[in-house]
Amino acid sequence: MAKLQSVRGTYDLYGMAKKKAQKVISTASDVVEKYGFEEIETQIFEFTEVFSRNLGDTSDIVTKEMYTFQDRGGESLTLRPEGTAGVVRSFISEGMQQNLPVKLYYSGPMFRYERPQKGRQRQFTQFGVEMLGVETPQADIEVIAMAYEFLEKLGLNGTVTVEINSLGDKESRDSYREKLVAYLRENFDKLSEDSKNRLEKNPLRVLDSKEECDKEVVANAPLYADSLNEYSANFFASVLRGLDLLGIKYRVNNRLVRGLDYYSHTVFELVTDKLGAQGTVLAGGRYDGLVAQMGGADVAGIGWACGVERLSMLLEKELEQSRPIAVIEVGEDVKDCALQVAYNLRKAGFKVEHAYSGNLKKRMIKANKANAYKAVIIGSDELASGKVTLKDLDLGEQKLVELKKLIEEI
Ligand code: ATP
Ligand code: MG
Repeated sequence: MAKLQSVRGTYDLYGMAKKKAQKVISTASDVVEKYGFEEIETQIFEFTEVFSRNLGDTSDIVTKEMYTFQDRGGESLTLRPEGTAGVVRSFISEGMQQNLPVKLYYSGPMFRYERPQKGRQRQFTQFGVEMLGVETPQADIEVIAMAYEFLEKLGLNGTVTVEINSLGDKESRDSYREKLVAYLRENFDKLSEDSKNRLEKNPLRVLDSKEECDKEVVANAPLYADSLNEYSANFFASVLRGLDLLGIKYRVNNRLVRGLDYYSHTVFELVTDKLGAQGTVLAGGRYDGLVAQMGGADVAGIGWACGVERLSMLLEKELEQSRPIAVIEVGEDVKDCALQVAYNLRKAGFKVEHAYSGNLKKRMIKANKANAYKAVIIGSDELASGKVTLKDLDLGEQKLVELKKLIEEI
C-alpha cells in the first residue's frame, strides 16, 4: 500500500481554509440568487464524450488532464474537469429548453491531472454560473456585473482586474483564423511542438499557450479586434458600454482567448497579480454554439466559473467567528444539569462550548481558548438554591442568576 497520505495535488480542507472556502461559496450564492439564478447539482462523473466531444480535442483538458476510467459495466466515464459541459448536458437531457431563459449556478469539486503548484491542484472546487437562452449583450453585462459584485463583496475589488475581449461570431473567427495561420506559418520554427500541432487543428489555441517561445510569437500576432465583422464589433461595443454605465472597470485585452473550443463573442477573466502564474481567479465567456453542438436546440449561452481555493487564498484576514458561551460544571453531582443547560442554550440559538473534563481552572482556560464571551458556571451549592453563576469573560464580572431566567439574562 502507498504511504498513508492524500493523492499528489489534492488537499484536505479543514479549519480556517474550509471556512474561507465556504465563505467564498456562500457569498457567491447570495449574489447570484439576487440575479435570479438557481442552484443545480449535476453529478461528479459523466460519460467521457460529454467532455471529449465538447471541450475541443486539442484543448489541454481533453488531451492531458482528464481522469478517465472504465466502470465495471465497461462504460468510459470521466471525473468532471469543469462544470459547463455537465450543466448543458442536463439542460438538454432534462428538457429545460422549454422554458427560457434558464439561469443556473453550481459548486463542487473538479478534477484535472495537472502539475501541482500553488493554486493549481488535481482536485479543486469551482463555483460557476450558466445563463441559457439570452442572445443579447444584456446577458454578458449582467453576468460580468455579477462576478464583479461577488468579488467586491469578498473585499477583493482593489486586487482584481477585469480583462475582456471579443472573439466575435463564426464569420469573424474564420476571418481571424486565416490571418493568424498565415502569421504563425511565417514563424513556424519558433513555436513549441504543441503549438506546431495546434497550428493545423486549432490555431486559436496557440494564443493561449503558456510556453515562453509561443508567448514571444504571440506578442506580435494580428489583433482579433481587426477581424470582427460589423455585428460582432457592435455587440462588443454594447457590452463595454453597459459595463461603463454600471461603473465596472475593465481592461480590453486583445490577446485574451479562452482554452476551450466553445467560446464566441465575449470572453473575460478576473485576474490578480498576487498568485504568481495562477493569477486568474474567475473566467468565462459566451458559448452560443455549444447547446446545438451537444444535440440541443440553437440556444445561446454565457457563463463563468471561479476557482474557490484561489479566491480563498486572497482572503488574507482570518474570518471572524461567532463566539460561544462556555458551560462549566463544578462537581459530579451537577453533570446532568450542565447537560440540560448546554442543550437548552443551543436550542435557544446560542453557540455553546461544553468543557468536557478537568477542574474549574482547566475548564476556564478551555473557555478562553474557545474565545467564549460568557461562562455559565454550575456549582452544587448555588444549584441547591436554583441558581448558577453567569460570568462575563470580557469584563471579568460575575453574578448569580436564577437557572430559570438564564436565557433571559444572557
Ligand atoms: P489556467 O489558465 O490557470 O490553467 P484554466 O483556463 O484552465 O486556468 P478554467 O478552466 O477557466 O481555468 O477554470 C476557471 C477557474 O478555475 C480558473 O480561473 C481557476 O481559478 C480555477 N482553476 C482551474 N484549474 C485549476 C486547478 N488545477 N487548481 C485550482 N484552480 C483551478
Ligand atoms: Mg488549465
